Amino acid sequence: MSAAVTEVCDVPALRVVSVTQHFSGVTALDDVSFEVRPGTIHALIGPNGAGKSTLFNVVSGLYRATAGAVYFGEHAVTRMPPHQLAGIGIGRAFQNVALSGHVTVLDNVMLGRHTLTSGGFLSAGLRLPKMRREQARHQGRVEEICRFLGLGSHLHRPVSQLSYGDQKRVDVARALATEPSMLMLDEPAAGMNDTETDAIAAIIRDVRDTLGISVLLVEHDMALVMGIADHVTVLDFGKRIADGTPAQVRNDPEVIRAYLGAVAAEAAGAEDFSDHEADASNEETN
Ligand code: ADP
Ligand code: MG
Repeated sequence: MSAAVTEVCDVPALRVVSVTQHFSGVTALDDVSFEVRPGTIHALIGPNGAGKSTLFNVVSGLYRATAGAVYFGEHAVTRMPPHQLAGIGIGRAFQNVALSGHVTVLDNVMLGRHTLTSGGFLSAGLRLPKMRREQARHQGRVEEICRFLGLGSHLHRPVSQLSYGDQKRVDVARALATEPSMLMLDEPAAGMNDTETDAIAAIIRDVRDTLGISVLLVEHDMALVMGIADHVTVLDFGKRIADGTPAQVRNDPEVIRAYLGAVAAEAAGAEDFSDHEADASNEETN
């Protein structure tokens, strides 16, 4: 297998069709539609509470949409349990939750790989030569993916010893280890400093350019995505208020209005807001 190149011949489009999501009394998503074209970086942006994470959770099978549907190629994602998504090529980074701090980078990413294996290579099966060979093959590929993400020198370190930015890369490595044709990232730059943010932006671009896969990127920060996204969908209070190229979206009066409103609201609650950010960046993963 060639270094850091996924053999994805056919990347399907993701189609989100008229998705509505109600939570007791709250309409988190209201008739939202858009399409992620194959091999593109598609950003979903909007102020806090706009419905970005809800949409992410609908696409990744964690929430059942109240109405509407999501298709990945010919697969109806809306009826699929989350654990089957890797099998059809949707890879999702799970922010901090799924990382085990005391486990090495390599082993964490190997766990992400687990969905692809015939099963059980981490257990007693290792004693069988066939299982050992399979394990070695997977490990070789996982090492390639880690090097691609700049984690090559950290393979044998416990994740808890890594910087916050490097821990986020381990998340991305785990998602890539399932060899997805679409990678889903929810606020990958949350809690990162400027240098780490630039680095993750470069990685996302590399994922598209080198692997040829699609990226569905959920971000709060409009400025960050403008530099790397091919296409942007903007949500506000659960509604799609804009959809187009970064240039089209940036100059859209509705978008400017929504963001100016959000900036004012955040300024009003500035203390709460910055406390949240600090908590997020200091969060330890165990
Ligand atoms: P964003 O990610 O854009 O900040 P969310 O998708 O997290 O926004 O939230 C959109 C709205 O849906 C908010 O009003 C939020 O309180 C509500 N919401 C999200 N998830 C749930 C849930 N599991 N139960 C109830 N309300 C929810
Ligand atoms: Mg969110």
